[in-house]
Amino acid sequence: MEEFQTFPVHARAGWTTPILSYLKDGRLPPDLEEPKKIQKRAARFTVLNDELYKRGFSQPYLRCVEEEEVKYVLEEVHGGVCSDHMGAKSLVKKIMRADYFLPSMQQDATNFVNRCDSCQKFRILRTIISDNGRQFDSHGFRSFCSSLGIKNKYSSLEHPQANGQTEVTNRTLLKIIKAQLVGAKGAWPEELPSVLWAYRTTTRTPIGETPFNLTYGTEVVIPVELGITSLKREFFDEESNDDQLKLNLDCLDEVRDLASQRMTKC
Ligand SMILES: [Zn+2]
Repeated sequence: MEEFQTFPVHARAGWTTPILSYLKDGRLPPDLEEPKKIQKRAARFTVLNDELYKRGFSQPYLRCVEEEEVKYVLEEVHGGVCSDHMGAKSLVKKIMRADYFLPSMQQDATNFVNRCDSCQKFRILRTIISDNGRQFDSHGFRSFCSSLGIKNKYSSLEHPQANGQTEVTNRTLLKIIKAQLVGAKGAWPEELPSVLWAYRTTTRTPIGETPFNLTYGTEVVIPVELGITSLKREFFDEESNDDQLKLNLDCLDEVRDLASQRMTKC
């Protein structure tokens, strides 16, 4: 089992320090430039077990991550064990679903993905598998692809809907495998389980859920939550957790129905 990096309670003052100090004992550091702004902002935060949490809209409490920990969270969720080099939008979603809050999350995620070496290497596709739509089967499209060295392949006419879904899934899996295989070509069978795991634990846009949640009715704990304790781990209670898992299973049909409706609308 790989050892996970852990972080001490923040030794240096960071963005959480004035909010934490104000919420804990009503005091603000004397050298603060805009104390009113901090007081106002503090209303959206709360302190649990000496740690700062933001009251979220998508999740009730998000653990606030200090600047020194941001890189670790981004690295672990984007390219660490069981990660799939997802794009910035999915990265933000996955971080929030794991109950973390980074002050400039969207910007940090975009910068991080743009600088990730693995993500830059496979921007031009080798093959495009498309349906038989005229926009893909035209002279213009074919010559555009051939100028970039991309092969065109067309799906069977028999099951257009299933073909479309399979194409999307396969393309995503292929992209993840390529990003994971830097320096380890030919090792894809060994990498496949962690690639599939990453795919299943990341929210897929058409269904608005993770495949894991649709199968088991609950969200999984991802490796970053071992490095920096998340709310789920901090307040884990076996008994209430079991009750919640059962409740989630009772609601699973509803979650699946909603996902199916969302997919139909896409
Ligand atoms: Zn990447």
